[in-house]
Amino acid sequence: MQTTRSEALYRRACELIPGGVNSPVRAFRAVGGTPLFYHQGQGSRFTDVDGNSFVDYVMSWGPLILGHAHPEVVEAVTRTAERGLSFGAPCEEEVLLAEKVVALYPGCQQVRFVSSGTEAVMAAVRLARGFTGRPRILKFEGCYHGHSDSLLVKAGSGLATFGTPSSAGVPAALAELTVVVPLDDEKALEEAFARNGSQLACAIIEPVPANAGLLVQRRAFLAKLADLCRTWGALLIFDEVISGFRVARGGAAELFGITPDLATFGKVIGGGMPVGAFGGRREIMEHVAPLGPVYQAGTLSGNPVAMAAGLATLRVLERENGWEKLEKLGQELEKALNPILAGRGQLVRLGSIFWLYLDSSPAPRRFEAIAPQAAERYRTVHRALLQRGVYLAPSAYEVGFLSLAHNSDDLARTAQALQGALQEVSW
Ligand SMILES: *Cc1c(COP(=O)(O)O)cnc(C)c1O
Repeated sequence: MQTTRSEALYRRACELIPGGVNSPVRAFRAVGGTPLFYHQGQGSRFTDVDGNSFVDYVMSWGPLILGHAHPEVVEAVTRTAERGLSFGAPCEEEVLLAEKVVALYPGCQQVRFVSSGTEAVMAAVRLARGFTGRPRILKFEGCYHGHSDSLLVKAGSGLATFGTPSSAGVPAALAELTVVVPLDDEKALEEAFARNGSQLACAIIEPVPANAGLLVQRRAFLAKLADLCRTWGALLIFDEVISGFRVARGGAAELFGITPDLATFGKVIGGGMPVGAFGGRREIMEHVAPLGPVYQAGTLSGNPVAMAAGLATLRVLERENGWEKLEKLGQELEKALNPILAGRGQLVRLGSIFWLYLDSSPAPRRFEAIAPQAAERYRTVHRALLQRGVYLAPSAYEVGFLSLAHNSDDLARTAQALQGALQEVSW
């Protein structure tokens, strides 16, 4: 069989980069085969280096909410880049994006920009510890908050995919400070607070957990968490790196009507450029250096080109009533796919985030409720969809993303591909 260009590039990459990739799930280990090398993206589609075209539902894992290479984002990036790529000094673009974030996100009075979601969460947790003077943090099983040491404990997709509950290299002394609780379980939550409450600096949660499938939470559970945080004096951190500016204008905080003390952002906020942010109440944020004692810094933080991409993205979303359109598109996708799945699985969805769950059991709300056989089925279905021009994330535990560029044609093509794919497998 002839070697494709993707295969040839992958072989070269494997010599030079561990596993041939710069982020583990990209390696296709969970679904088999070799990863496709992207050549060009336009709207909802991309072409790989062999000239094959696909409907893309990975969308760079969430940032591309307007689709690939949206003309206004490309224009903003180009125009800004012509004046310089980075200054390491204040620029107008960071003020404009900060104004936008503060205007859109509930309870956010100040914000600081960083370069990734991992950095945002790491800094928010340090801030919570610095503000409260307490050492412990509480997180939920299956929630991913980036790869900083304290948070790499029972952390979802990339890790679930490889069957390791946590990572080598994280000192036990640090992991011990992280209390892990199951999602969707008020009783376990109350017990964890009763045991650790006075030592907890914060509780951090993905209010829309989307890194171990899509584990949609009940509002009552999130409200309980907010209550317990208030009672015990722990800060509530919403990790909105995926959900922020995606599930609603004001993210999950707006959707559920629950305002956290701090929130972290990433993905959509950079429109495809490396941007993260953390923000919240002024009295807390003023503990960050240079105003306060909590140190945090970044050479490329507030980078003008990245800020411009984020700002252009949020402007288009607002102007085009993006969140409503994405919800409609999500409903359309659900209507197209669920009859084809016909009880063999379901499309779990919240707005423009969806998860192809290939089991007849009810949509899980916590990590251990995910049927293990769903992952095995996903391997086969993923490959069959790829052959039919539909690109889903190369892991059963990852979600898919709709963008404003996806259209009825894409959905029809996807439905047809799924129909064909499901004929190849039986369960
Ligand atoms: C992606 C993600 C992160 C980490 O962001 P990176 O930019 O990959 O470092 C953190 N939290 C959540 C909820 C995420 O989905």
